[in-house]
Amino acid sequence: MDILKIPKFTPSNSLLKGKEILITGAGSGIGREVALACSEFGANLILLSRNAKKLYSLQDQIVKNGQSEPLVVEFDFEKAKEKDYLNLFEKLCEEYEKLDGLVHIAGVLGYLSPVVNTSLNQLNTVMRVNFESNFLLTQLCTPLLLKANNPSVIFTSSGVGRKGRAFWTSYSISKFAIEGLMQVLADEYESSMRINSYNPGATRTAMRAQAFPAEDPMTLKTPRDRVNDYLWLLSDSNMSTGKAYDFYE
Ligand code: NDP
Repeated sequence: MDILKIPKFTPSNSLLKGKEILITGAGSGIGREVALACSEFGANLILLSRNAKKLYSLQDQIVKNGQSEPLVVEFDFEKAKEKDYLNLFEKLCEEYEKLDGLVHIAGVLGYLSPVVNTSLNQLNTVMRVNFESNFLLTQLCTPLLLKANNPSVIFTSSGVGRKGRAFWTSYSISKFAIEGLMQVLADEYESSMRINSYNPGATRTAMRAQAFPAEDPMTLKTPRDRVNDYLWLLSDSNMSTGKAYDFYE
């Protein structure tokens, strides 16, 4: 797999004006900062995550910043059944005529354990949150995405989704699956949608602290440092599809 670097990019104030964008994992970490930045640059947002309290607090902040009020969707990928996804899709179709961006950021690390010690239950849980959600949401949102001019789908991957690493079993496999989904979709919608994956690299969040508890978080880039990369992938400056991107540095 060829890995590309996100180019240097300075967003204009009206970068995402009028665009409807759904962001998963918007409650905390990278997703929260990406949501704040997208609203700052003019997007109307759908904030989706499992914790309604965090989402409503983000909604408040966005409104206080003078941006348009986002729709809050409380949705737990671990517990959701296919019919819950269908209900979500119906709700989205009632409220929106198109979707310009679908940004998959929600994810869990699961437990780090060697393949031989990883239970099927553990693998399935991580796959449900990290992969199945990306699969079902993209599948359901495709008709809305195809109604937009130049839609962009972003799958948040990882370094271990491109090169396997010992003990990262469930997480690594789930991210490899995302890369596969991205490539298949990009081939299917070559001329109508931009579909890319993105690895934010080591970033100061709760997930990173869970994976590397002894690390000094102050040595890491912050979620805010990653938002420009998402803005570029969403913007019309990005004309690529089917590509695996690494963070800008
Ligand atoms: P965080 O743990 O800070 O945030 C993860 C987000 O996913 C949270 O908003 C969380 O919701 C949401 N989420 C978790 N489980 C579910 C669920 N069952 N249903 C719905 N939403 C859920 O992690 P990061 O911000 O670090 O990670 C964001 C993405 O970046 C992930 O896909 C991760 O794999 C990827 N990544 C991160 C790296 C890093 O160094 N941080 C490096 C490489 C990739 P809640 O707010 O309720 O907790």
